[in-house]
Amino acid sequence: ALPIVAVVGRPNVGKSTLVNRVLGRRQAVVEDVAGVTRDRIAYDAEWSGRNFTIVDTGGWLPDARERAKAIATQAEIAAQTADVVLFVVDATIPPTADDEAAVRMLRRSGRKVILVANKVDNERLEHEISSLWGLGLGEPFPVSALHGRGSGDLLDKILENL
Ligand code: GDP
Ligand code: MG
Repeated sequence: ALPIVAVVGRPNVGKSTLVNRVLGRRQAVVEDVAGVTRDRIAYDAEWSGRNFTIVDTGGWLPDARERAKAIATQAEIAAQTADVVLFVVDATIPPTADDEAAVRMLRRSGRKVILVANKVDNERLEHEISSLWGLGLGEPFPVSALHGRGSGDLLDKILENL
């Protein structure tokens, strides 16, 4: 079986956009409206001659309390089944309580987690991500899933951890 990379994070941070960037094609469904991706969807991916499975996650419920629970559940399932977890946050806004709930679950899982600071579309934003060290997941990795900025470096980093 191929190694598994799970993409986890709250709605609208750009998980599906990142999955498409990794795949090099538009296959995962991207939506401006939160909560479009249903459950977990696995895709075969390749980088530098290495093959792996990348899992897009979603399925969040609209109610705030239920949503927090669903995020924790998704994070837990991803952590249990993945070799590496990409925890994606929106670097243009401060971490939310939902982000922190997912982080607690991921840290308890003991799995390898790469903290992906998405929506870093320009160099100015790159200087603003240092506050994300506070999540306790180590160095934040800046990317723009939309424009491709940093995605090659992220893929190299993923392969290092597989
Ligand atoms: P998901 O709910 O986490 O899967 O998020 P999506 O991939 O569906 O993206 C949600 C919204 O964020 C869409 O409007 C995307 O175009 C936008 N988005 C995703 N990545 C980026 C990025 O790197 N920069 C910017 N500016 N927007 C992004
Ligand atoms: Mg999605």
